[in-house]
Amino acid sequence: MLTFAPNPRYRIYTNRNSYLFLLEDLLLRKRSPEDRKEIEILEKELCSRFGTEYAVCVPQNRVGVYLTVKALIKPGQEVIMSPYTIVDITNMVISAGGRPVFADVDRQTCNISVAEVERLINSNTGAVLITHLHGLAAEAHRIKEICDRFNVPLIEDCAQAFGTKEQGKPVGAIGDAGVFSFGMYKNINTWLGGAVISNRQDVIEKIRTELASFAYPPLPYLLKKVKSGLFADIATNPLVFKLFTYWIFRFGFLNDIEFINKIVRIELDASRKDKLPESYKSQFVPFQARLALSQLDKIDRDSKVRIENGLTYYEGLKDIKELIIPPDRRDFSHIYTYFPIQYAKRDELLKFMMKHCRDVAAQHYHNNADLPAFKEFYRDCPNARHVSEELIFLPTYPRYSRSEVEKNIAVIRKYFGLN
Ligand SMILES: *Cc1c(COP(=O)(O)O)cnc(C)c1O
Repeated sequence: MLTFAPNPRYRIYTNRNSYLFLLEDLLLRKRSPEDRKEIEILEKELCSRFGTEYAVCVPQNRVGVYLTVKALIKPGQEVIMSPYTIVDITNMVISAGGRPVFADVDRQTCNISVAEVERLINSNTGAVLITHLHGLAAEAHRIKEICDRFNVPLIEDCAQAFGTKEQGKPVGAIGDAGVFSFGMYKNINTWLGGAVISNRQDVIEKIRTELASFAYPPLPYLLKKVKSGLFADIATNPLVFKLFTYWIFRFGFLNDIEFINKIVRIELDASRKDKLPESYKSQFVPFQARLALSQLDKIDRDSKVRIENGLTYYEGLKDIKELIIPPDRRDFSHIYTYFPIQYAKRDELLKFMMKHCRDVAAQHYHNNADLPAFKEFYRDCPNARHVSEELIFLPTYPRYSRSEVEKNIAVIRKYFGLN
């Protein structure tokens, strides 16, 4: 069992420090909104890293998107955005008073199509919101140029792209505001959290004012996250994973056992929110800032490993005509947060890989443009529809070994009858 079991499809970036910092905070600290020193240090670090005037920590990326959209648009204005993102990003746009206008993605990059943005932008547009998905820069410079022509602000969702650069400039600092995530599955993990960076004082002031009204401290919601993080940490511990977890999930997947498969599926609730949920109105707290600071240094080193893994997949899969794979980039314009591949018979390939003792997963992001919850904003986005039905993630994370990458490639080649 130990020899056949693969590395898990993901690991989260918690370590002993994470739990120590949390424990220390719970046991020793008086928490008070005035105690902002560590948060200020993190915000300064982010400013110097990204070369922006301002940075403000937020309780979650999605809340950052909400606050930023609200600060930038007039109620009722249109927000051009990719339909291929998490449901809650669309919800945040709606909650902030915007009307989502879904612009289809490019099939290969899965990022918003520049041509579509250009076609859809007009005098009703309040903002353009782009997502740098999977760590791949989304042509922010070209889109910024279009936005400038119409005097429309550009917001960058960098939840999966901390450390990505486009033409040498860090993403997030190209548009009017960039929003990052320090959520549980991101390359900085403080369980919950994020930051908005910007050069615009007016935007940052509005965000800070609204944030000040949020609850402090946010412990119950945060502790719930810590609990599920701990569960993920234990389940993907190499020994536990190879002895138990993998075989349980493999059995569930190969035999279509819903209650097992459900555990790893995301976004089971794809409902519409017209208002920011009360549970989101909380604050990023000092120990989380300390945790983020302790992880900043290793980001680029980790990205280099991911890029190497990504390029290994690229070289190993590029001749397979049936697959759509991302471009090969060596200039940090793709940090390969994942290596996404698209294939029309996704489930068949996934089953084949599981049978051959690999652990990889389908991406379950919805095409928001097709969701019943957002039918008021329906637009036909065929590329996003295909991507949502065909995308598989291949793991690239730093602790994933090179030989695992090579085994994934070998099994995929075998499926297509190549060697
Ligand atoms: C994770 C993610 C988010 C949400 O981040 P939170 O910090 O959990 O709110 C938003 N957009 C994308 C593309 C993401 O991957």
